[in-house]
Amino acid sequence: MTVLVINSGSSSIKYQLVDPESGEAIAVGLVEQIGESSSHIKHTYEGVKHEFDETLSDHGEGLRFVLHLFDTIGPKLSEAGIVAVGHRVVQGGRHFDGPALITQEVRDLVAELAPLAPLHNPANLRGIDVARDLLDVPHVVVFDTAFFQTLPEEAARYALDREIADTYAVRRYGAHGTSHQYVSRKAAEYVGREDLKQIVLHLGNGASVSAVVDGEAVDTSMGLTPLEGLVMGTRTGDIDPAVIFHLHRVAGMSIDELDDLVNKRSGLKGLVGENDMRAVWDMANGGDANAREALDIYVHRIVKYIGSYAAVMGGLDVLTFTAGIGENDDLLRAEVIARLAPFGVTLNAETNAIRGDEIRKISTDESSVTVLVIPTNEELAIARQAMDVVAGL
Ligand code: AMP
Repeated sequence: MTVLVINSGSSSIKYQLVDPESGEAIAVGLVEQIGESSSHIKHTYEGVKHEFDETLSDHGEGLRFVLHLFDTIGPKLSEAGIVAVGHRVVQGGRHFDGPALITQEVRDLVAELAPLAPLHNPANLRGIDVARDLLDVPHVVVFDTAFFQTLPEEAARYALDREIADTYAVRRYGAHGTSHQYVSRKAAEYVGREDLKQIVLHLGNGASVSAVVDGEAVDTSMGLTPLEGLVMGTRTGDIDPAVIFHLHRVAGMSIDELDDLVNKRSGLKGLVGENDMRAVWDMANGGDANAREALDIYVHRIVKYIGSYAAVMGGLDVLTFTAGIGENDDLLRAEVIARLAPFGVTLNAETNAIRGDEIRKISTDESSVTVLVIPTNEELAIARQAMDVVAGL
């Protein structure tokens, strides 16, 4: 049995055909630049990557082309035992604390939540609508916010006028929840204990951190939107909101320009002109002082969150690194751990240098905190959740 996992962006469709039981990604692909003069498509099956340039004017044409690739390159979906489609949706508001079978009501709720995630939910919905038209199997939505519905009010509520906050649904919803849930469960399995105080650092192009006690999220760095928290590829993360008013007043920037500035032209990109951490390291190693400073700012923010979440939880048992930077950047991990030395956290330099897809412990046996690297797998987590929903039908 397989599940087709779809992550639909504003001009892209990422997909994976997953065997939820074995965890195998049977076919993986990406359609980019939908709606532009030429769209780029990659489809990988049986270890061979096939690439195409086509004109695909909308998500419907994009998905039709993907289905044609499954038919011609393989695997044929009818023969691959597809039992569900799992859709990633960024914002589930307070309605969803787990995956949901897509009905008209669920679809309309996702649409209704668009004002809370204007960059994401409408794009997610486009993928849902075209996939429901083209694939006659149950469709399931898996929300990025669901894992954080357990946040206590003291963490989720901003100290904002209560009536305004409640009227406009302004609160901390978090994001990357599928990854934080998957990784924190893997960490508990690895350690062999459920009763743990954990911090998960999801460091990818987007970056977030969560505090998890006994398997339940108690705090997370992303807020109303994925803008808050850590320094990211192109987002500021935490910033004094008054910076926005200030720039509006003194630089005459409009709300849309400021939205673009803090979401797309800041973070590592804003600091050094590159949003890829590898490029930042190359610049820093070449003597670029701004790049070295950007790394320091990045690490400083992470350490600040680790300290505050350890205090909030009253201790820390396991600290886990995941996602593109967390899984691959041993130097950055070493810099973070070095700053935790006063608290008895010590790095095992040998295991930290290992590359691979395996879970690994990168702290010494004497370390006060177990530090792990756990590759995240959001597609597999979505496939398994979709499978659970279908099994309950
Ligand atoms: P993700 O969003 O999880 O796919 O992560 C993507 C990011 O991971 C890229 O933008 C890079 O900054 C980062 N990345 C991938 N490989 C490495 C590496 N070997 N060293 C440092 N950063 C990396």
